Amino acid sequence: MTTIAFIGLGNMGNPMAANLVKAGHAVQGFDLMPANLETAKANGVSVMADAATAVAGAEVVITMLPAGRHVVSVYEEIAPKAAPGTLFIDSSTIDVASARRAHAIAGEHGLLSVDAPVSGGTGGAAAGTLTFMAGGADGAFAKAEPILKPMAGRIVHCGGAGAGQAAKICNNMILGISMIGVSEAFVLAEKLGLSHQALFDVASTSSGQCWSLTTYCPVPGPVPASPANRDYKPGFAAALMLKDLKLAQEAAGASGAVTPMGAEAAQLYALFNAQGGADADFSGIINFLRGKEA
Ligand code: NAD
Repeated sequence: MTTIAFIGLGNMGNPMAANLVKAGHAVQGFDLMPANLETAKANGVSVMADAATAVAGAEVVITMLPAGRHVVSVYEEIAPKAAPGTLFIDSSTIDVASARRAHAIAGEHGLLSVDAPVSGGTGGAAAGTLTFMAGGADGAFAKAEPILKPMAGRIVHCGGAGAGQAAKICNNMILGISMIGVSEAFVLAEKLGLSHQALFDVASTSSGQCWSLTTYCPVPGPVPASPANRDYKPGFAAALMLKDLKLAQEAAGASGAVTPMGAEAAQLYALFNAQGGADADFSGIINFLRGKEA
């Protein structure tokens, strides 16, 4: 049993913390929202008055927060309060620069640190099947791996500080671009009088095959479990896809990488969000594309 502080008990953090409790760990949780603390309490988390109290006596600290500025400010607040050698794991999806800043703050206080963003959404968080993409020194990763296990289907050590965040935004840039590509193909097929099923049957076994088509098909029918079959209820909300595409563009700008398709995908998702799509599943972009037809 390990004493774990868990800070940020939202849609993802609460089910993740619940799986740590189920695995036999003592979890000391904190969130700014009282309703989230109530849920945590019902899941067996010991609810603390603030982040600093949650960290007291913890061997591991996990953060699951909205954005880089929240992670850096929480690290600045709690790193001085943690015992040297404490392992800090940040599983939020944040920009690479903030992730590296968080590692630096941890290092200044003699702490071990890993950035470990996830994919798999709230369903994966509840089922304990998230994919963790980890960045950090070998020793820190070795300590983090058994802690992450009860929440994970797969854990990949991607490299040094920030490498987990880099892997996450590169993957999601592929996803955003490929979903738009698959959606455009279905919209064109409709115009050409080709049925959804016929395009699916050909492309799913041809060179157009990809996850956005075969697992998350943006039209109802061919893949019964995809959000298109339940009126595009998320799933993975378009607002979160836009967040990740913006992070990818930020990283591309800072590193000098040329990503014109990523830039276009970010712009299309920004328009889709602005026109009411933010809470829909990101595969709902197909309806936005249909709406733009001449
Ligand atoms: P959420 O908004 O539901 O939860 C974030 C929580 O952090 C909130 O409950 C908020 O009150 C809390 N918080 C903010 N500042 C705080 C502070 N200073 N101290 C304590 N608590 C604080 O968001 P979420 O859906 O749980 O996502 C969390 C992170 O995981 C984000 O970075 C998101 O991009 C990423 N993520 C989400 C999904 C998903 O499907 N929801 C999937 C993969 C990754």
